[in-house]
Amino acid sequence: MTIHSSKHQDDVDKNARSSYFNLPALDISVAFPQATPASKFPPCASDYYQFDDLLTSEEQAVRMKVRECMEKEIAPIMVEYWEKAEFPFHVIPKLGALRVAGGTIKGYGCPGHSVTGAAIAIAEIARVDASCSTFILVHSSLAMLTIALCGSEEQKQKYLPSLAQLNTIACWALTEPAYGSDASALNTTATKVEGGWILEGQKRWIGNSTFADVLVIIARNTATNQINGYLVKKDAPGLTVTKIENKIGLRIVQNGDILLKKVFVPDEDRLPGINSFQDTSKVRLLCSKFL
Ligand SMILES: Cc1cc2nc3c(=O)[nH]c(=O)nc-3n(C[C@H](O)[C@H](O)[C@H](O)COP(=O)(O)OP(=O)(O)OC[C@H]3O[C@@H](n4cnc5c(N)ncnc54)[C@H](O)[C@@H]3O)c2cc1C
Repeated sequence: MTIHSSKHQDDVDKNARSSYFNLPALDISVAFPQATPASKFPPCASDYYQFDDLLTSEEQAVRMKVRECMEKEIAPIMVEYWEKAEFPFHVIPKLGALRVAGGTIKGYGCPGHSVTGAAIAIAEIARVDASCSTFILVHSSLAMLTIALCGSEEQKQKYLPSLAQLNTIACWALTEPAYGSDASALNTTATKVEGGWILEGQKRWIGNSTFADVLVIIARNTATNQINGYLVKKDAPGLTVTKIENKIGLRIVQNGDILLKKVFVPDEDRLPGINSFQDTSKVRLLCSKFL
């Protein structure tokens, strides 16, 4: 009988594990030949409540434009990216061309859709892929809406036009490792210093954060104990974002753990309209219309 030392067994396990993890993404058509390929996305054939009749011609046009793009461009590749848990960055220009980011926001290069038009666009995206709609919702309905509702005129002019075209991407960071549903108790701090603020703390589960150009960070003002909002650039010294791996749902959404270590934010990047937790709730309430 051969007896392996525990060290040898560890090596065997490690080798077995690493070869398993290095396998290429599953080829769905080979592994599950009975499955319907995503490239043959089922047609949208029924309208039981004659919902279409309730839409204006503009809303119907938005719906068809988004549907066509999602079925043609996105459906065929989503399974592959789901398997890899990666984001298909090459589709961002196609989503940008749909002019849905910014939803109901008027001016600043945003589409200014009706609430129904904006919601129907998100519903069409979610029909094909829920990760894709989460990407747009976080970017548009959380981050862009926060800037539109709570930003200064200069901030709106500076950030919204390129966010609307998806030339730059945003995320919105409220949740923390110790505070999710009870987010009003959050721990991340903002301390006033000359010319700006110092942010310290952690955020968790933040969608788009691994590649966002602009991060909306919600933090507690150490002088007032109230909640404030800040715009942090992706290359800010002291900012680290780590991708959360091994999710079982919404695998294409790139969720990140954010670490803020003495991150300096200049005064002009504090959102003047967020002075309490209720102010962040205004955005979340509006956003819930699209969820
Ligand atoms: C894919 C994904 C994307 C996300 N994107 C973002 C983002 O972009 N920005 C961001 O800030 N956050 C984001 N989040 C975080 C998300 O908002 C939190 O997960 C959510 O607020 C819940 O917090 P939690 O995970 O800590 O759960 P918990 O608060 O620990 O809740 C766990 C469970 O307990 C229940 N529960 C909690 N408190 C109570 C109570 N008092 N009474 C009864 N039941 C209760 C909840 O309903 C839930 O079922 C994302 C999460 C996911 C999964």
